[in-house]
Amino acid sequence: MNDTTRYVIIGNGAAGNEAALHLRQRDPDSRIIMVSAGKLLFLNRYRFPEVLDGVFDWREFLVNPPEYYIKQRIELRRYTWVNHIDPHNRTLEMRHKEKVGYDKLLVASGAGGYLPEYLGEYAPLLHDFNSLRNAMEIRSALPASGGKVLILGGDIKGLDLAHTLVRGGREVIVVASEHLFWPHQIPREESGRYIDALERVGIEVILDHKIASIEKGAKGMRARRVTLDNNHELNADVVMAFYGLMPSLGFMHGAGVDIERGLLVNPQLQTGNEHIWAAGDVCQIWSPEENHYRFYYGWKNVKMMGRIAAINMTGGDEAVDTFKEDRLFINEQDEIDSTFWEYE
Ligand SMILES: Cc1cc2nc3c(=O)[nH]c(=O)nc-3n(C[C@H](O)[C@H](O)[C@H](O)COP(=O)(O)OP(=O)(O)OC[C@H]3O[C@@H](n4cnc5c(N)ncnc54)[C@H](O)[C@@H]3O)c2cc1C
Repeated sequence: MNDTTRYVIIGNGAAGNEAALHLRQRDPDSRIIMVSAGKLLFLNRYRFPEVLDGVFDWREFLVNPPEYYIKQRIELRRYTWVNHIDPHNRTLEMRHKEKVGYDKLLVASGAGGYLPEYLGEYAPLLHDFNSLRNAMEIRSALPASGGKVLILGGDIKGLDLAHTLVRGGREVIVVASEHLFWPHQIPREESGRYIDALERVGIEVILDHKIASIEKGAKGMRARRVTLDNNHELNADVVMAFYGLMPSLGFMHGAGVDIERGLLVNPQLQTGNEHIWAAGDVCQIWSPEENHYRFYYGWKNVKMMGRIAAINMTGGDEAVDTFKEDRLFINEQDEIDSTFWEYE
């Protein structure tokens, strides 16, 4: 490996940061540029529910101190959007028209929440839970104590938040869709025991009803009114959608790499382009055992992918173990839990 290799990483999340750390260790003289659409440094999003308990200072959520990037010689470009990749000239094109060249590119741009089309018109009335700002907006939309939250869809990220809200004394109703427990696929006959576990901790679950409309609440009432397809009305302070994730990769269209829902990679995390790898929520990895491309979510899996991508980008040959069981289970606190959620 010569000393001038220029690695560019798109994404300042768990996958991108783990990759940068291993790239620096394995190729000490290289140049590492990390591009992130976000304004803030790498924050631990898994702790954002603490905002609902009154932790507001973003520094509390920092994974690495600011000087870490200087020490590791990682050139971090914040609030910088990649618009397009030109694989022939090996350049990224930014929203502000700047072009940045790479020798090897890692796409670690994560995923945003997926919103089904029939709910699209209601998006302005929904709260997100992707950023620290989102968490603060939820906190200010709720009364100082109590308050009511509707979780639509019910994927595993939404259910994790539902547990936190209930522990904090908030009332939570989940209006379940086929995304209940996503990304786990639980057959209907087995779902009962998990729904019972949700209800035991105080989370109400409404099954088999679609959302007919979402409106602002009437004056003096809670801020949102949700009507179901049986005309039943639910009033809440905050309504959030949790229908699984949608990889953030619009900028990869036209880059000559294969995309299904995520960016398709082999178990070594390489795309069809010999200079482009991907890691984290953005990619779907070929699983020879299962004969399809699959996602691996969660802190631990995403970090593992960042490490493996860095090894392979620096001449190694390591593969993701794609024969890994992902399970939903009921933990010692009698709450439903997921192997995706393992944290280290
Ligand atoms: C609020 C929240 C809480 C979560 N809690 C848990 C949890 O408790 N446990 C768990 O296991 N999993 C949790 N998850 C799931 C978890 O997000 C992921 O599996 C993991 O963090 C994804 O890491 P990543 O590095 O792939 O992407 P991300 O962390 O999403 O990072 C993506 C990066 O790409 C950048 N980016 C995207 N598009 C562009 C662009 N066009 N140009 C430039 N930069 C771009 C973004 O700015 C960001 O820096 C949570 C997710 C969220 C949103």
